Amino acid sequence: MCEFDLVVVGSANADLVIRVERRPAAGETVLGSDLVVHPGGKGGNQAVAAARLGARTALLARVGDDAHGRFLLDAQRAAGVDTSHVLVGGAPTGVALITVDPSGDNSIVVSPGANGRLTPADVRADLLEHARVVSAQLEIPLETVVAVVRNLRPHNRFVLNPSPPRALPDEVLAAADPLIVNEHEARVLLGSQPGDVPEEWAAGLLALGPRSVVVTLGSRGALVADGAGMKLIPAVRVRAVDSTGAGDAFTAALAWRLGLSEPLDIAAAYAARVAAFAVTKAGAQESYPTVGEVL
Ligand code: ATP
Repeated sequence: MCEFDLVVVGSANADLVIRVERRPAAGETVLGSDLVVHPGGKGGNQAVAAARLGARTALLARVGDDAHGRFLLDAQRAAGVDTSHVLVGGAPTGVALITVDPSGDNSIVVSPGANGRLTPADVRADLLEHARVVSAQLEIPLETVVAVVRNLRPHNRFVLNPSPPRALPDEVLAAADPLIVNEHEARVLLGSQPGDVPEEWAAGLLALGPRSVVVTLGSRGALVADGAGMKLIPAVRVRAVDSTGAGDAFTAALAWRLGLSEPLDIAAAYAARVAAFAVTKAGAQESYPTVGEVL
């Protein structure tokens, strides 16, 4: 019996947001709005999204022994995430310094902090033993993701969102089931001249070795592909307010439903509903629905 539907191995960041009339030039100071602090990081987002849907979820991450770390842990616990495997200390909590201008454009500086100190030795095989699905992203060291793959048990399904994108070892690609990418990530993984046709991206990504692939296409939906074929899962039409964190909500919902043995296309259709809900509200974790809201 698995104790967890989903174990998320990944990052947790405090997103520090200030609205500005314009960005400062070098050497200049500008005044901005009051500071707003949001819980973020792809790992933290995925864990909260899954737990709010009712998935028994644990997060394996590292935060600093500081106020941001306590803030992030509180947000995870409030959503129902098991945080007993979150490691504390070694570096300050990861932060993203975000300025938003009146047109809505972001400028972001990320300090990975403790996320960069989540090491292969922190990947506990006994935690993965108790998981149906294990998910990872790339806001932690790649060698830690490699350690996750090497510690997977035969009953684990491994879901990988390679964000931010970079070249991946074959053993990581081969374990992904699915590899979930947006358009930008697909282009980076495919290298030069990938063309403009999502079906060609999906075929090219499958050729890299994952057992299945999902290409998310924003308001156009998501393309799912495996050895059996390809299918476009349309997006749910909503009035979009803020798509921040939609991809993380999609990945978390998909991972959970795959763990319940749903086929990839059915799980992706569910994930599209969850992600559509998330784009109707501002923020990332704050926008994620409960299972009742999705119904
Ligand atoms: P982000 O970086 O903003 O978290 P992403 O770039 O990783 O997202 P997207 O492809 O933009 O991922 O979106 C993921 C999924 O969310 C899409 O496949 C779709 O199902 C849903 N989605 C995104 N934008 C919209 C939208 N405007 N309307 C409905 N659904 C959407």
